[in-house]
Amino acid sequence: MRKKFVAGNWKMHGSLAVNLGLLHALREGAADLPAQVAVCVPYPYLAQARSVLNGSAVAWGAQDVSEHAQGAYTGEVSGAMLQDFGCRYAIVGHSERRSFYGDTDVVVAAKYEAAQAVGLTPILCIGETLAEREQGVTAQVVTRQLEAVLDRCGVASLAQAVVAYEPVWAIGTGKTATPAQAQEVHALIRARVARNSAAVADGLQILYGGSVKPGNAKELFSRPDIDGGLIGGAALVASDFLAICAAG
Ligand code: PEP
Repeated sequence: MRKKFVAGNWKMHGSLAVNLGLLHALREGAADLPAQVAVCVPYPYLAQARSVLNGSAVAWGAQDVSEHAQGAYTGEVSGAMLQDFGCRYAIVGHSERRSFYGDTDVVVAAKYEAAQAVGLTPILCIGETLAEREQGVTAQVVTRQLEAVLDRCGVASLAQAVVAYEPVWAIGTGKTATPAQAQEVHALIRARVARNSAAVADGLQILYGGSVKPGNAKELFSRPDIDGGLIGGAALVASDFLAICAAG
């Protein structure tokens, strides 16, 4: 039986003052929830997340990681540096990284590998654009994105990873995939993993992301292959995020 997992992606939001209230509310509010909970914060706030969340039920992580271990890569942050700040997770392949910063499938797979090399759990984001959905190629797109990681790191690596299906057209737009639309793609992702290993597929947490709110979380999370959510905008409001976590 897979545990539900709800992870917040703060994106480029926050300040020391604003985060403080949010982190303390999560620390208190998530104490007795059945779901696993995490927040992925901007790099400068990792120390603050560690200081407030340490010893709580809420894990923390980053929103990206370099594919390189160290060296002359100005502006990059390595997996080992994230480990220094107690991170458990690193998001890789978020659609904003893919579309604004040129993260290709190959780069995303390298980042996934780099995260795992230092013991971080990658949250691998995959998902189609609106144009791709309208062209009827959703299955091919998510399969291609998943196979980039399978080819590089092997199916066993997914036993130490989380996949987030995030249709690009639903991220930050207020448009949510229907539970049936999301379930269909989640089932397809699990079936593709099962072709390589039924056991890994069975244990894999596959999150849905894209305008999840307190009002739609329960219905989404009740589908058999939806194991929780990756939450953007609603993760910035403690009461909303905790309500979503409670739906898990
Ligand atoms: C995200 O950033 O991963 C996301 C799902 O954002 P939102 O919930 O705001 O659509």
